[in-house]
Amino acid sequence: LTSEEQAVLDEIEEKDVDFLRLQFTDILGTVKNVAVPARQAEKAFTEGIYFDGSSIEGFVRIQESDMRLKPDPETFAVLPWRTDDQAAAGRMICDVINTSTGEPFEGDPRYVLKQAIDRANKMGYTVNAAPEPEFFLFEEDEDGYATTETADHGGYFDLAPKDLASDVRRDIIYGLENMGFEIEASHHEVAQGQHEINFEYDDALSTADNVGTFRTVVRAIAAQHDQHATFMPKPIPKINGSGMHTHISLMTEDGENAFHDESDEFDLSDTAHSFLAGILEHAPAITAVTNPTVNSYKRLVPGYEAPVYVAWSDRNRSALIRKPAARIPAASRIEARFPDPSCNPYLALAALITAGLEGIEKDLDAPDPVRENIYEFDEEKREEYGIETLPSNLGEAVDALEEDEVILDGLGPHISEKFVEAKTQEFEEYLVDVSQWEIDRYLETY
Ligand code: GLN
Ligand code: MG
Ligand code: MG
Ligand code: MG
Repeated sequence: LTSEEQAVLDEIEEKDVDFLRLQFTDILGTVKNVAVPARQAEKAFTEGIYFDGSSIEGFVRIQESDMRLKPDPETFAVLPWRTDDQAAAGRMICDVINTSTGEPFEGDPRYVLKQAIDRANKMGYTVNAAPEPEFFLFEEDEDGYATTETADHGGYFDLAPKDLASDVRRDIIYGLENMGFEIEASHHEVAQGQHEINFEYDDALSTADNVGTFRTVVRAIAAQHDQHATFMPKPIPKINGSGMHTHISLMTEDGENAFHDESDEFDLSDTAHSFLAGILEHAPAITAVTNPTVNSYKRLVPGYEAPVYVAWSDRNRSALIRKPAARIPAASRIEARFPDPSCNPYLALAALITAGLEGIEKDLDAPDPVRENIYEFDEEKREEYGIETLPSNLGEAVDALEEDEVILDGLGPHISEKFVEAKTQEFEEYLVDVSQWEIDRYLETY
């Protein structure tokens, strides 16, 4: 055992942990887990835990289904939601190993992100990232099912519901802190019932791990309060949806921020300009990954602080990428504003990093930033500025992905194929559905 693995065993002993949840993420971003008694932790480290991969969405066919989980000791944490009479449960995030080759399984999203980070490392960089996941809190009905009644509005109109929402948020924050999160800020978002909790930036892999943990903890603790937390991008029409703005920067080997250059008008280095140019160039294909649901495209419409146009800005929040003001050089970064929290965080970061690194390798020049509100531009003005529009639905985004060799390559052949297949099917199902809107609009009119 390595010293880190031994430290996990000691902690299991010391904190009286009975069960271990070994987690990994499927292609759609759902956290899966295999629970084992904690006494199997040592075996999990030395031999791995075997499971049947054929039952996992986007993994493998039955005939090649044996997979092995290899827990990452750095991700050990005790789950914060046991009640007093239950023993503690711990969790570790795992890499997935193909048992027939002993190699990392290329359908494991965590592996895909590791590959993108590797490419950055080979170019002399490490990657930092910080997400800003937004979510809604909804009431549950008597049977415990989610409604679309927001928790701090709708029905009550008193002081009490407001307090209720902040109680839930406080408990969520305690839960996250117990799991080792550094919470930087939390606030009520623009829309009713909508919240945001920001946690500290970390290396890209830890950040992707953290997003999965964050979504799990937020939902579990909301449920303890009989509320449903949803990361669905646009649960209520005509008010703001939920985004997951993603801040990214590159560090050089000697710990300097490779995105900072104070001689530049925007404090951004050539490296940063090329990185963001790469994201702009590949934005339509990336969108399929960062905004992977039919509903994602209901958020990406003008007027609700979500981006629609492929441009960057040092001021305006209607742009796809924003350069936030940085107080210190080390904080220079770019903020991709299009991702939403329904994405698979590993694949989303992998796609963004791949595009950015491609921009650096090709030495791409970023266009000028746009400082006006692009929502107010008409088509002529957008043409004059050379501003493209994001895909307007999941089908268009998947088409763009299928044509983008750079992003497909970044995702690898296995994930690319399964992802395109799953998302094409999802969009086709949606296309043949008849929605409530259509019924309301047409049933009695015709
Ligand atoms: N909810 C907005 C979005 O969809 C963002 C609002 C904000 O954080 N300023 O991206
Ligand atoms: Mg924010
Ligand atoms: Mg926000
Ligand atoms: Mg933001």
